[in-house]
Amino acid sequence: MDLLQKRYLMAPGPVPVPPRVLLSMARPIIHHRLPEFSAILTKIRQDLKYLFQTESDVLFFASSGTGAMEACVVNLFSPKEKVIVVRGGKFGERWGELVETYGLEPVYIDIEWGQAVDIEMVKSIVDRHPDAKGLFIQAHETSTGVKHPVGEIATLTREREILLIVDAISAIGVYPLPMDALGIDVVIAGSQKSLALPPGLSFVGLSKRAWQRVEEARLPRYYFDFRREKKALARETTAFTPAVSLLFGLNEILTRIREVGLERLFSHYAWLSGACRAGIQAMGLELFAKRPCEALTIVRVPDGVDGLALMKLMRNKYQVTIAGGQARLKGKVIRIAHLGYQSPFDVIVALSALEMALTELGYQIPLGAGIKAAQEYFLENKEA
Ligand SMILES: *Cc1c(COP(=O)(O)O)cnc(C)c1O
Repeated sequence: MDLLQKRYLMAPGPVPVPPRVLLSMARPIIHHRLPEFSAILTKIRQDLKYLFQTESDVLFFASSGTGAMEACVVNLFSPKEKVIVVRGGKFGERWGELVETYGLEPVYIDIEWGQAVDIEMVKSIVDRHPDAKGLFIQAHETSTGVKHPVGEIATLTREREILLIVDAISAIGVYPLPMDALGIDVVIAGSQKSLALPPGLSFVGLSKRAWQRVEEARLPRYYFDFRREKKALARETTAFTPAVSLLFGLNEILTRIREVGLERLFSHYAWLSGACRAGIQAMGLELFAKRPCEALTIVRVPDGVDGLALMKLMRNKYQVTIAGGQARLKGKVIRIAHLGYQSPFDVIVALSALEMALTELGYQIPLGAGIKAAQEYFLENKEA
């Protein structure tokens, strides 16, 4: 990294990794079949249950989050089964592409990007399709910043034959999503989002009911075979060569998460995102999500401003990397993530860079308005 370019990573994945976690991954590689490594796996296994708030085992794979999404399709379903897919953004669309790839028959609930799914609409769809076997959704759409009411949806699915599969790739550990208490069947996570690790690991937590389906499902699978991984985990090992260094990092971050506790972690993200939203509104800008999540703040690019130019200016001139809009939102929104190793001053940095870049692009904005509002928010609200 250049001497004169201190960088800030504020995209919704990958995210900044705590130095202590980075160092834990720099240790020499050990062989994955040694007792020393098994001991680490055993600890990880316990700590993942804590993070996912479940009694069941959480599996992990060497893949990005999408690998775990695909794994859920092939391990839980049989050809031509009917499934319900909520599509309100890029990642909901990904569920649709995946289930179609494997010959499932999706019923789509399409919602306007920026809106959360309406629980009444979900109820009428599940009532109309009693033969549906699964419902695919995101805890929140990382492309729109919208949180879906998955707890309420679980009250509908758990009394039916519908498995509820929640992509929580950027949600786990950010706000409460207690999988057992809510009755969610499957929860998916990814290392480079809310786990504050480098990219390369994905996670799947499965309820007892989901495990029954794993046994019955007839779609073909090999690397991502949940049955094989579960057996291996019971023997304190993995089916294939695990991502040893990343698992050192996972062990470290999970230890830190247990020390801090989920409650404090949740309030930390609520604090950062609350201040960011306050800052954005004080700048006179519009928040995109109608029901915003705590993982990231999505801002509508004001009329007359080129969204891509704005992002580039923030990155190239100020070394602040945020994300732009995806697919149909390209150029129309910017996404500021609060995930990973971040503090109040990262929010201030992002708002400050945004104010400066907008000013430079000719957009009239009182410099400091957003920063002031965020500072006030931090002063008035405790992290808990
Ligand atoms: C990032 C993300 C994905 C995709 O994960 P990859 O690790 O890029 O494969 C899927 N769903 C959500 C909600 C995400 O935020």
